[in-house]
Amino acid sequence: MNTGKIIAFDADDTLWDNEDFFRKAEKQFCSIASDILPYNKAMEELFAIEMQNMEDYGYGIKAFVLSMIECLIKISDSNLTPDKIQKLLDIGKDMINKPVELLDGVENCLESLSSSYQLVLATKGDALDQERKLKKSGLEKYFPNVFVMSNKAEENYARIFNQLNIKAKDFIMIGNSLKSDILPVLNLGGYAIYKKSKTTWKHEDLDEKITSDRFFEINDYSEIPTIIEKI
Ligand SMILES: [Mg+2]
Repeated sequence: MNTGKIIAFDADDTLWDNEDFFRKAEKQFCSIASDILPYNKAMEELFAIEMQNMEDYGYGIKAFVLSMIECLIKISDSNLTPDKIQKLLDIGKDMINKPVELLDGVENCLESLSSSYQLVLATKGDALDQERKLKKSGLEKYFPNVFVMSNKAEENYARIFNQLNIKAKDFIMIGNSLKSDILPVLNLGGYAIYKKSKTTWKHEDLDEKITSDRFFEINDYSEIPTIIEKI
């Protein structure tokens, strides 16, 4: 074990596929709503309601299902039959029960890092859902510490540093969201490694360009150990 550095991994779309399930569910929602609104309009309405609910419900499948139901009630002018609500509930249960599929190269990367560094999982959303996915993934053994934040605000990362009794400069975050995984950690003085995912939710988009000598971008997980050795 070396150096006292902590290597933190985001979970969704960093270790395993996730966002595609939401995109597919949105399409199902738009199809259920298609007798009321055209596809793009239904999508816009749903996103607006998700954003309005973010502070109350946070992230995750349960929050998404509540927003779909609220959206359908709103656009139906309250003229909604229970079978449609049942369909939305079924979409959510289907998402919860999806198998967890690891992204290419993840397990090799964790295996090689875990012999030299302490790894932690630093994710956000619904704790039950994230814990369930971690169990299903078979990756639990690599993460003695798991942090599920309600959102990835700087103050929540700072709390993790306190709990781990480390300074920001000893924290290296790896993730697929510039907004949630990269920027807050850089702002606090930590290091961040960005791996772009094939699908990103537009809520995670970031307009500003990141320039920092503590920021690295990779195409493949096999690049991570070499970068970390240089930090
Ligand atoms: Mg992610």
